[in-house]
Amino acid sequence: CGIIGYTGEHHVTEILLHGLKRLEYRGYDSSGVGVLNRKKIRVNKKAGALGRLTETMEADLDGTIGIAHTRWATHGGVTDGNAHPHLSSDGSIAVVHNGIIDNYQELRERLAGRGISFSSDTDSEVLAHLIQLELQGTGFSGFDPRGGAAAHSSDSEKPSGSGAAPGKPAAKRSPGEDQALHPAGPAAAVARALEFVRGTYGLVVLFKEFPETLVAAKNGSPLAVGISQDGRYIASDPIAFAAYTRQVIFLEDRELAVITPDTLSIFDAAQAEVRRPAETIDVRS
Ligand code: GLU
Repeated sequence: CGIIGYTGEHHVTEILLHGLKRLEYRGYDSSGVGVLNRKKIRVNKKAGALGRLTETMEADLDGTIGIAHTRWATHGGVTDGNAHPHLSSDGSIAVVHNGIIDNYQELRERLAGRGISFSSDTDSEVLAHLIQLELQGTGFSGFDPRGGAAAHSSDSEKPSGSGAAPGKPAAKRSPGEDQALHPAGPAAAVARALEFVRGTYGLVVLFKEFPETLVAAKNGSPLAVGISQDGRYIASDPIAFAAYTRQVIFLEDRELAVITPDTLSIFDAAQAEVRRPAETIDVRS
């Protein structure tokens, strides 16, 4: 029922746990954090009181980018496994989600048909898998950033005209792929995944391959970005980061935000860039 995320120069875990504490008033039955540490996404998540999470935080659960969540279960029981973040099958994507994915059943079946197995009973987990597939070019949209136009229905290796030179590893990233809405980048992958999703969401995504970038999207659940000298915050309520910054931009429905330690880009549903000045909020920290 609450989200907090951060990318910047500070230790992230303290910021996340502080944020979760501030979000407790919204009610919750479970909590969890996911951080990027030594090129791996590491997760700790627990059903029950926040104390269960904070008491079990290991030393390697720190870094300078991460996401955290308090859950109010709607789909799937109150268990450690159903707490957020949810990881994609290869562990390269972590998602925290508030809201309800209405068509999750249909999406689960389609993903299962692709050989994806699920590690929770939540509606939210489909998001991690959908985004992973879109990022690797095998998603439902059929768009493959590495091959230009794509056809994952065909097994044959396509001759690539302007693609990677022969012998070059296909996974090699080109400069600029971390930029906002670059077709091979994280934000475009989230946008393509969300085209298949019906329901309400405030969600934040952490990527192993893009170690400074968080992507957030909102439809029906609140999200606000906090702007500071030391980085960027995102939360379902700015109270979660008010101890660090009062400069806030609230996201609107169907908007997508790409956040790095010193940039914020917001796009509307038509993928046009949105320019909105930050407001200074007055909340007690
Ligand atoms: N529907 C999701 C779940 O049951 C998210 C619930 C929430 O908003 O906390 O896990």
